[in-house]
Amino acid sequence: MSADTICANCGEEENLRGSRDGDTITVTCHSCGLVWDRDLTPKCGTCGSVDVRKAFQSILEKSRGTQLSIQSMRLVYLCPRCDADRLADYIKSNTPLPPDELPVTPRD
Ligand SMILES: [Zn+2]
Ligand SMILES: [Zn+2]
Repeated sequence: MSADTICANCGEEENLRGSRDGDTITVTCHSCGLVWDRDLTPKCGTCGSVDVRKAFQSILEKSRGTQLSIQSMRLVYLCPRCDADRLADYIKSNTPLPPDELPVTPRD
């Protein structure tokens, strides 16, 4: 792991583990559980803009027990144009984004 790799959440530099998936190296911080893709130029998948914002997204660990609990987070990027609503919610709530795989359950 080279010196430029640092956890965006807790600042950990040593306790990191990288795993290669094709061209992408996925790094896991073993201090706080943050997961991110290394050597990835942040870019919007929809419009290609590189003017994107960092955000943390929860990852739910589904294998342990019956209770769903937030175990770790992933570093993702939101486009101010294409993901405007999610980005606004993220900034407003100041909490990690919900996981993608969860169905949206409206609450009242
Ligand atoms: Zn960390
Ligand atoms: Zn975009």
